[in-house]
Amino acid sequence: MSEAPTGMGEARVDQLVSLAKRRGFIFPSSEIYGGINALWDYGPLGVPLRNRVRQSWWRRVVEARDDVEGLECSIIMNPKVWVASGHVDTFSDPLVDCLGECHQRWRADHLKGDRCPTCQGPLSPPRQFNLMFKTFLGPVEDQSAAVYLRPETAQGMFVNFKNVLNTSRQRIPFGIAQIGRSFRNEISPGNFIFRSREFEQMEMEWFCEPEDDLRWFEYWCQDQMAWLQGLGLRPENLRLRPHTPQELSHYAKGASDIEYRFPWGWGELEGIARRGDYDLRHHQEASGRDLTYLEPQGGRRYLPWVVEPAIGVDRTVLTLLLDAYDEEEVRGERRAVLRLHPSVAPYQVAVLPLSRKPELVEPARRLEAALRREFATDFDDTQSIGRRYRRQDEIGTPLAVTVDFDSLQDHAATIRERDSMAQVRVGFDQLAAACRERLGG
Ligand code: ATP
Repeated sequence: MSEAPTGMGEARVDQLVSLAKRRGFIFPSSEIYGGINALWDYGPLGVPLRNRVRQSWWRRVVEARDDVEGLECSIIMNPKVWVASGHVDTFSDPLVDCLGECHQRWRADHLKGDRCPTCQGPLSPPRQFNLMFKTFLGPVEDQSAAVYLRPETAQGMFVNFKNVLNTSRQRIPFGIAQIGRSFRNEISPGNFIFRSREFEQMEMEWFCEPEDDLRWFEYWCQDQMAWLQGLGLRPENLRLRPHTPQELSHYAKGASDIEYRFPWGWGELEGIARRGDYDLRHHQEASGRDLTYLEPQGGRRYLPWVVEPAIGVDRTVLTLLLDAYDEEEVRGERRAVLRLHPSVAPYQVAVLPLSRKPELVEPARRLEAALRREFATDFDDTQSIGRRYRRQDEIGTPLAVTVDFDSLQDHAATIRERDSMAQVRVGFDQLAAACRERLGG
């Protein structure tokens, strides 16, 4: 449960951070100015990986169903939202200062002992530190213009509950989903993109009858676990852990985390919470607007209860990379390979002409153009073929198609599989079908 480094597996994280930068997945933000703590940029390979995570979640939670609607809210909302939701008063973590030599700040609930983990100095008593970023709306920087960057996307769904209900023809039970940026001024960010200060969340508020919330809670726990396994995460590295009463948030009637076995220990990947009618009730009281639901045909009127699955895009990306990262020895050489599931890999098929001679490059380009209609493809004619295979292994491309001089006679190319490194010769006209079969789609 702890995020404090254990020493174990840190090398693995370091290797992944270096690979992510070297290959163009993730860069430190504003790097030429020395970076900025806990903010990250996604590069040419990080962007498709993130997009695939988002698309997969959206497809499953929204598009593949007829009972969930989408929403995109502004990041800055009326500050009354955050008073009513409880964030202004309670969205805080206990902060302790090192009173020894290093003066570092720590999140008290993440520490194991009562000394500073860096210099072993004594610690101050904990004080509550609000995690919301504050800024000003308009030209005047005074308290009446103060607003917050949202620390979660959920509140946008609650304050739009009636708008969606009245325009979508949905009936209880139904959901409202949103993917978007959230901001938290975390006290102790770290572990690469696990905990950053700007990140993206995928959240869904499921509105149901009060009597049904436990059933739906279990349903969404199972659904999300199945989704994560479908992304290729190994089942033995995932577990569902119910919150203890002490851990429960102020609004929650119950909650479970889907945890992943990170190199530093088990940690939250996704939270699934039973929020009851806490949010709608507080927004109804604070806004004076009626947020109740009226059952059709003159049934009862009530505030729906809410079940919420909430997961970070960035944290999912980190989990996928860690789960996929592997090293092995092949004929006395070290091979680093990202065993990403084909549905999330930045490229699915790489086309590699054996030489840069035009008689190979031209047919290889034509093959790539044909495969690109169906798959995410890469084309690479630089360096030796061995180095190109190593690059594709490191960025997780499941298949490489090599065009060689024999191809000019037999109109066939070699498909090499990333995981087994097995090679098979396939006719040009059968290539798309052979890739499809191997990519499982
Ligand atoms: P913690 O207690 O670890 O601070 P939390 O329980 O407050 O986290 P939630 O509010 O449940 O987190 O957020 C839902 C999801 O959003 C998390 O499961 C995680 O995937 C993601 N998330 C939350 N905070 C961060 C962050 N600072 N950086 C990256 N992802 C985050």
